Amino acid sequence: MKKNILISGGGIAGLTAAKLLSEQGHNVTVIDRALSFTKAGFLISLKSFGVRIMEELDLMEQLQAASSPSEFVSFLEKDEQLIQHISYEKMNKNIERSVLISRGGLHNVLYDNLKDQVNILFNTTISGIASRGNKTEVIFSDGQSMEADLVIVSEGLRSSTRERYFTDSQMEDFNTLYMGGRLQMEHSYTVGDFKIYIDVNKMLSIYPIANNEIAIQSYIHHTGDIATIKQRSAELLESFFSDYNIEVRDLLTRFTEEGLIFVDKMGMVEASDLVNGNLVLLGDAGYCPTALSGMGASLSIYGAKALSHFIGKTPDDLASACSNYNTLMQPIIRKFQGNARNNASSFIPADAHQLNQFVNTFRAASDIELKKIMTDPIILTEDQLNFKIN
Ligand SMILES: Cc1cc2nc3c(=O)[nH]c(=O)nc-3n(C[C@H](O)[C@H](O)[C@H](O)COP(=O)(O)OP(=O)(O)OC[C@H]3O[C@@H](n4cnc5c(N)ncnc54)[C@H](O)[C@@H]3O)c2cc1C
Repeated sequence: MKKNILISGGGIAGLTAAKLLSEQGHNVTVIDRALSFTKAGFLISLKSFGVRIMEELDLMEQLQAASSPSEFVSFLEKDEQLIQHISYEKMNKNIERSVLISRGGLHNVLYDNLKDQVNILFNTTISGIASRGNKTEVIFSDGQSMEADLVIVSEGLRSSTRERYFTDSQMEDFNTLYMGGRLQMEHSYTVGDFKIYIDVNKMLSIYPIANNEIAIQSYIHHTGDIATIKQRSAELLESFFSDYNIEVRDLLTRFTEEGLIFVDKMGMVEASDLVNGNLVLLGDAGYCPTALSGMGASLSIYGAKALSHFIGKTPDDLASACSNYNTLMQPIIRKFQGNARNNASSFIPADAHQLNQFVNTFRAASDIELKKIMTDPIILTEDQLNFKIN
């Protein structure tokens, strides 16, 4: 039977769920606190099963058109000594080729495909929720209300609905600062050939994504609070890499003067149950694995597909559908959040000893070992890909 489904948060997870659930014939309403959507944003690499699901949604052509070339990545020490030079084609031989795209670009592919099919209300949030038997009455910030059979909460990392209605959930401060963005400039780097510097308590990536554009990303271990950091972001970025070569320093100076910088602190969301009555958490709102897992967008898309899959199986028993979704997701969330912790200690080592250990092992790694380091952590089992619960 057709259900009334409200999706709060029309990001990557929310729009994927909206597409799949409206295709099942449900009445889907999406609300988003944003006034409109933008194509801009930080660079992400959509990998593995995230790419596979975009293929299944028949959105690959649009995704490729909005993506940037990615051919090689060199991991370097701060004095430019090479640790590893990796070909994306070779590395992703047995899994889907990763797609480099801005978060806004990926989001826009979904939005463009969906905007004429689903009702999206901008500048709207949930201001209250009340249970009425099997139904839930939701009051919106503009005073309007709707009766929903299910409310999907996909409001991203700092979801206010999660904070209010999932009081057992926690957001762990990952003590890692992200500063990155894009800079329009002519340059002499090779497009698609990336550099990642690994160093004590920090990592710096330089992505020449077009002849006249460079994306820059840095992850820095930091325990300060985000409000203070945001005010000092330019100064912090330059000071953290002040002992790097002149080319890097000049690039960062130009970036802080002319680039579009996005600054945030990594948070990891832990919710022991993604379901509370008729409310279900999806995407970063429920299980943000941090950017250091490199798989947040893929997990958002996968979670949306899994939830829609179970709703499609038992549309008249949404409680069972949501419970199955939770059972499937919990071990997967633990795996990807565990990977993020491992990546943090490997790629952002805490001291010189750990840096040397990681650099030596990574440098000596054979092709098989490299594959293990780079691709094993980003795949799911066949059962998980087919939503089988043991
Ligand atoms: C720096 C960085 C690098 C990353 N790199 C990668 C990568 O390489 N690969 C990868 O797969 N992932 C990466 N990610 C993670 C990826 O961007 C996220 O996991 C993904 O965007 C989560 O999608 P989402 O839909 O759950 O949340 P979001 O994309 O955050 O969308 C949430 C939506 O909810 C709306 N909203 C917020 N609050 C409310 C509210 N109260 N009411 C209504 N609407 C609300 C917002 O406006 C937004 O539209 C990275 C993340 C960061 C920060």
